Amino acid sequence: MTFVSNAPTKGVVNSGKASGFHRVADMRPGHKDFDPSNGKRGPGIPFAGSTNPAAGQWDGRKLSRYRIADYKRFVVTDGEGIRCSVYVSGCPFHCDGCWNSSIWDFQAGHDYTQELEDAILKDLSQSYVKGLTLLGGEPLLNTPPLLKLCHRIRKELGNTKDIWCWTGYTWEELQRPGETPDKAELLSMVDVLVDGRFIAEQKDSLLQFRGSSNQRVIDVPATLAADDGEVRIWKKLHDQHRHIPDLYGKDRAAGEGAAS
Ligand code: SF4
Repeated sequence: MTFVSNAPTKGVVNSGKASGFHRVADMRPGHKDFDPSNGKRGPGIPFAGSTNPAAGQWDGRKLSRYRIADYKRFVVTDGEGIRCSVYVSGCPFHCDGCWNSSIWDFQAGHDYTQELEDAILKDLSQSYVKGLTLLGGEPLLNTPPLLKLCHRIRKELGNTKDIWCWTGYTWEELQRPGETPDKAELLSMVDVLVDGRFIAEQKDSLLQFRGSSNQRVIDVPATLAADDGEVRIWKKLHDQHRHIPDLYGKDRAAGEGAAS
């Protein structure tokens, strides 16, 4: 899951109502809704501009090729504080407007190696590093290498480092009966989850850590501890507000080919 995109907006998101919930009447070319009778899949879902999987349809234990697109250490953009970021390869959501479509292929990038894992642990052990961030691509469909990495972090560094994860799944989709257990196992080690597809029509450059307003920054331990099934938003979230008119948005939009 990536949270930055400036690609053009296309088509219509949702249309029509059936049985009390929105349904996607016209999926955009190349996309399909595999769970049409389920109206409780989180904000913006079903989305006409991505593929919408049924519970358990995509299994990271089978899809992952242990490939990563990139690893960046000591970054300040992928969550709170100074962090180390792993960008996995492979994402079948195929959101319209995705900034990282070059790594939709699970074979893209480089092998996840023991040497890389050792380097990540060494970088994370620096006192000024707050934690690890998992992005992609789709981390929850690359659970084999990421479970190994996260279990090792918890074993060797305990809870001294936090773990952030970006995913195209919504929280509600991940809680569906029939979803694969590896996703819940990874979630159990994640502190903050940024969830949901990138929806170009809801793009907002003032949002903190996310590209479109359907996405949420979720406090995972607090949400898992609650027994009402409601998502708990990360308490330190602070989106920007525009206090003066945006002078440069038009020029930027012309350069990028998108409305902003
Ligand atoms: S969830 Fe959507 S925006 Fe995120 S990497 Fe996958 S296709 Fe791109």
